[in-house]
Amino acid sequence: MRLSHGFIPTLKETPAEAQITSHRLMLRAGLVRQTSAGIYAWLPLGLRVLRNIERIVREEQDRSGAQEILMPTIQPAELWRESGRYDGYGKEMLRITDRHDRDMLYGPTNEEMVTDLFRQSIRSYRELPQILYHIQWKFRDEVRPRFGVMRGREFLMKDAYSFDLDHAGAVVSYRKMMLAYMRTFQRMGLKAIPMEADTGPIGGDLSHEFIILAPTGESQVYYDAAFEEIDYLANDAGGFSHDQPDDLARFFQMMTTHYAATDEKHDVARWDQLSADRKREGRGIEVGHIFYFGTKYTKAMGATVAGPDGKPVHPEMGSYGIGVSRLVGAVIEASHDDAGIIWPDSVAPFKAAILNLKTGDAACDALCERLYASLGGNALYDDRPDRAGAKFADADLMGHPWQLIVGPRGAAAGKVELKRRATGERVEVTPEEALGRIG
Ligand code: ATP
Ligand code: MG
Repeated sequence: MRLSHGFIPTLKETPAEAQITSHRLMLRAGLVRQTSAGIYAWLPLGLRVLRNIERIVREEQDRSGAQEILMPTIQPAELWRESGRYDGYGKEMLRITDRHDRDMLYGPTNEEMVTDLFRQSIRSYRELPQILYHIQWKFRDEVRPRFGVMRGREFLMKDAYSFDLDHAGAVVSYRKMMLAYMRTFQRMGLKAIPMEADTGPIGGDLSHEFIILAPTGESQVYYDAAFEEIDYLANDAGGFSHDQPDDLARFFQMMTTHYAATDEKHDVARWDQLSADRKREGRGIEVGHIFYFGTKYTKAMGATVAGPDGKPVHPEMGSYGIGVSRLVGAVIEASHDDAGIIWPDSVAPFKAAILNLKTGDAACDALCERLYASLGGNALYDDRPDRAGAKFADADLMGHPWQLIVGPRGAAAGKVELKRRATGERVEVTPEEALGRIG
């Protein structure tokens, strides 16, 4: 993309409405614009990040054996009357009436709809387990939408739903998702901690929220310092396999031996057994939530399969959410400096920015065009006639992992300056060498 014609409206001033860093930077770098309270339009730069996060989420869901579907945003109220949640959900649900006076709603989540799809199609225990997921916009009429895309009203979620014959099967599905989630967040450069979360009336210990530590987070959390020290996926090559229940059990065991809990689930007695130097408490951002809830929906909605003895059984379910759009903000909270965003390579909108320090200079233009062509769609070319200072500032603000800086002196000598955004390290190299390093 050429910046001179890019739809990337950066802001010099800090927008007054933004209270936290990620929101400020998303507005300043031209990633999103608010269209009404808690509802955002994604502009080219922001959309590229959102798509990258979505891709990583999808790859890890697929790898775990979950199957992608796409359910609609608009749902019939009828299904929610069956589960008993239509009235219970309250004002967070956006209710709509169609021209025939039928009650509809914009889905805040999809347990009812997926259970309906399941009961129409799956007949026998032999077809289990099933894990279905989709990546779809949700609407929740949050009382206090804030912090930009972190707590929006319309937001993109990955939600998966598992169906198993029995509790033991449901536990395996739950662990698969836990492994998939840790891999997902790690690939985005995030250190997520699975914390015991509220299970509501179901009870038990199968509810975990995945929390990214950040001072601006909305959740109060308590955890063992072990989580800061251990790289839980370090022996990934040795392999935790989604197909091996023993691996999954070992992984689950590793993730849950040390204490980590959200405020609602904080167990003061267990906490006090920790030595003072291991106690960590702070704020965190919830980027995912996995939850086992048994036969709650399959019973309420009469979903059964024929069991091994031919008798009907209500399958055991779990649901597994990831806040895809919230993650864009969360990654920025975890990775920025005073100058702007520092994108991890895996989610960056562009691998590199090409900074032409003297647009109009024949040598600079020629070299930049050559680099731009070599990098294909992976580069943002700053071909604007602006001052060098403005280009440096915008490139740092937008946070591309690499900057290729082309000035008249270097261009004449066949050299470019290659800057790594994360470290600030700059080296003068040949264009070929620079392209090689960017990869
Ligand atoms: P919260 O406690 O933050 O309201 P929740 O318990 O309502 O979250 P879930 O229903 O478990 O969230 O949704 C799954 C994921 O969707 C959450 O972990 C979070 O990352 C994301 N999410 C939930 N609400 C919002 C929102 N209003 N804006 C953006 N992302 C959201
Ligand atoms: Mg909520």
